[in-house]
Amino acid sequence: MRIGFIGLGNMGAAIAANLLHAPHDLVVWNRSAARARPLIESGAVFAGTPRDAAAGREIVITMLADDAALDAVLGGEGGILAGLAKGALHISMSTISVATAERVTREHEANGQRFICAPVFGRPEAAAAAKLFIVAAGNAADIASAGPVFSAVGQRVFEIGTTPSAAALVKLCGNFMILSAIESMAEAMTLAAKGGVAKATLLEVLTSSLFNAPVFHNYGRMLVENRFKPAGFTAPLGLKDMRLAGQSAETLRVPMPLLSLLRDHLLQTIATEGEDVDWSGIGATIARNAGL
Ligand code: NAP
Repeated sequence: MRIGFIGLGNMGAAIAANLLHAPHDLVVWNRSAARARPLIESGAVFAGTPRDAAAGREIVITMLADDAALDAVLGGEGGILAGLAKGALHISMSTISVATAERVTREHEANGQRFICAPVFGRPEAAAAAKLFIVAAGNAADIASAGPVFSAVGQRVFEIGTTPSAAALVKLCGNFMILSAIESMAEAMTLAAKGGVAKATLLEVLTSSLFNAPVFHNYGRMLVENRFKPAGFTAPLGLKDMRLAGQSAETLRVPMPLLSLLRDHLLQTIATEGEDVDWSGIGATIARNAGL
């Protein structure tokens, strides 16, 4: 397929590489052009603007940090809306707010373009291995036409309905649950360690019995090894997701006291460990608060 790809960060670069190797015909754009070099050396073409990355393409994919980054490439003379042909499809894979997903849906509709939300679960290693879990929402025919993209980058697609913003909501719920799991594991490991039980021993017992899920295995190892840099998913991006989940919680009048605690622990972690720490670095904060 003729695909435009915008956003070559930790996730985007890995996803775009898999699309190129599929092989698909790939035009890419990134704010910092240098990040595109490995893809260009492998045959991708660099576009001058997001508009150029979308023009003449059947599909344009965005994998950007947040709502503001998506807005920066969407509108204006050099933006996706101006370049994408009528009937062509925009797949948004970034984790964005429900409100932005709703607005972008309307903007594409007004332009005669198609739009689906398809955020992903899985860190950069999973993206590189084409093992992402994709949560897709939008018109069923549009999701079907994205099939060749999804099969090149993911292990499973969950179709969750025709309203694109629903996928954004599922993704935000999922990230809230991941960070809750990290928080509870880090608290339990700190308790165990201070009481003289190795963190690795606790993790072995729990993941071999009641907590045998990828989130406990993968983040548990990071907590045992205090391995929070380099980040696969930065704490500032995690903070963004807790903020977006909180916005939906306010809109829908859903009290989420645990969400407030997670947000504060992320803030404390960024303040003490820096902007480049992984979001699982809340483990360091929790240990320090206990005097470890
Ligand atoms: P990242 O490494 O920080 O990359 C962010 C991308 O957004 C870069 O291409 C960056 O361009 C671009 N960007 C940021 N601000 C921009 C702006 N104002 N205008 C244009 N481009 C801008 O982030 P990531 O880890 O790849 O995450 C990307 C998305 O996937 C996020 O929504 C994140 O929540 C989600 N996600 C991440 C993971 C993970 O484990 N990392 C997992 C699932 C979902 P530059 O290169 O120029 O900075």
